Amino acid sequence: MSTFGLARRRFLAASLGSAAVAAPFTIVRGAPIAFASDPFTLGVASGAPREGSVVLWTRLAPRPLEGGGMPDEAVQVDWQIAEDEAFSRVVARGSEPAMPALGHSVHVEARGLRPGRPYWYCFRAGSAESPIGRTRTAPAVGSAPARLNFAFASCQQYEQGYFGAYRDMAARDLDLVVHLGDYIYEKSRGSRHVRKHEVGIPTTLAEFRDRYALYKLDADLQAAHAAFPWLAIWDDHEVADDYADDRSYSTRDPAQFLKMRAAAYQAYWEHMPLPASARPRGPSATIYERYRFGDLLDVMLLDDRQYRSQPACVGAGRPGTVPDCAERTEEARTMLGKAQEAWLNGQIRTSTARWTVVAQQTLMAELDRGTDGAHRFWMDGWDGYPNARRRLLDSIATHRPRNPVVIGGDRHAFFAADLARDPARPPNDREAPVASEFVGTSITSEGPNAKALAAALQVNPQVKYGRSDKRGYATVELTAAKCTVGFEAIDDEKKKDGTVRRLATFVVEDGVAGVKPG
Ligand code: FE
Ligand code: CA
Repeated sequence: MSTFGLARRRFLAASLGSAAVAAPFTIVRGAPIAFASDPFTLGVASGAPREGSVVLWTRLAPRPLEGGGMPDEAVQVDWQIAEDEAFSRVVARGSEPAMPALGHSVHVEARGLRPGRPYWYCFRAGSAESPIGRTRTAPAVGSAPARLNFAFASCQQYEQGYFGAYRDMAARDLDLVVHLGDYIYEKSRGSRHVRKHEVGIPTTLAEFRDRYALYKLDADLQAAHAAFPWLAIWDDHEVADDYADDRSYSTRDPAQFLKMRAAAYQAYWEHMPLPASARPRGPSATIYERYRFGDLLDVMLLDDRQYRSQPACVGAGRPGTVPDCAERTEEARTMLGKAQEAWLNGQIRTSTARWTVVAQQTLMAELDRGTDGAHRFWMDGWDGYPNARRRLLDSIATHRPRNPVVIGGDRHAFFAADLARDPARPPNDREAPVASEFVGTSITSEGPNAKALAAALQVNPQVKYGRSDKRGYATVELTAAKCTVGFEAIDDEKKKDGTVRRLATFVVEDGVAGVKPG
């Protein structure tokens, strides 16, 4: 018999043996719920790891692509978390109602856990049992873990490839996964599709739920969720391509856009292992947050979509790569909004960890796409908000956290870069880098033109590496002495059995900002 089978039996025995959970197998009013088919089609997940707690997630969806297929009433879901895979040492358990208003999702904050160790968890509804997930608490603040390993990923357009990168990730020994956005795509894009969304662009909560369900039915994505705790932030495609604050180039009316944003944020929350603090209130949700992993790592999660100024130099058009203009360098332009910018400055000021990872959506380093002395910038990224970037780097330069490392996604290319405050100055007149940056490529989403990127690297020496022809993700190993970043690339994301190989390795040494070949 398999370990999972044994564990499931023990879960069943443990549940039935406890008087405290005698009632939970019934729907709130009436008879025990009986499922005609498995309600745990979307798997399980965990996230928001703290030293004494972690968020456990699932969603009941026996008919995942048809609104979930649940009755319009609350259904009790039992959960338990154990120190061992066989569930012989259960340390916490409980029961939560899965509510129709939340798409019958469940977000449990399991508390009273011990720091820096693995846990196993599962759910039960009626007679149905979920798969078993594994998670890990954060090391205690004040402790000095010898090493931490995490992966970061982004941009998983479903039609453009299979999620083999996640299959590879799930097999690693990681403490954490950080997802940097574009978890779903609202629309079709790219040409060489291997599978289909089947339905059009979602605008309502029901439609966004079905889009998340489609993505989360993927077994490789489920495996990566079930293997590690995740920290997650959104980018644009969770709502609409290249949106900024309360509008996008495809929906200019703020009232109409915010209605859609509320539905999109709600569906995101329902499908991710997010803490209660991130739950949307109408069209707003606070997802920026700090997570601490002993004295080795602080992670600052940022939200650069919800509060940003409208794109510069493009009028009401799409924020593409366009010639520079005066609007771009207006001081008031913001990427994070005033409140988040002040919050981040406070976090940077008080960060004491060996490594401070700023986890945000896109490439922060300047990447001038101009030729012959003219400047052209991609207005949807930090290059469209240079003063916001300068203020962030000023904060780092002023407060000097020990080793600031920025990670990003969105660009569908691997990048390694030095972050300096004025890369336009000649190298001998420029201050040393204040931070190091790594951008993972995309899980599946098509990259930009490789030749054009290679040409851009020639005139942007702060960007040490850029490669857009490969899909995959990045791994990070942290010790007191160094940060080692691996760019992990899948050979062919269009094949179901693609395999992953290391494409490049970079290191950042303790006390020395800037990236070096590893
Ligand atoms: Fe993307
Ligand atoms: Ca994006």
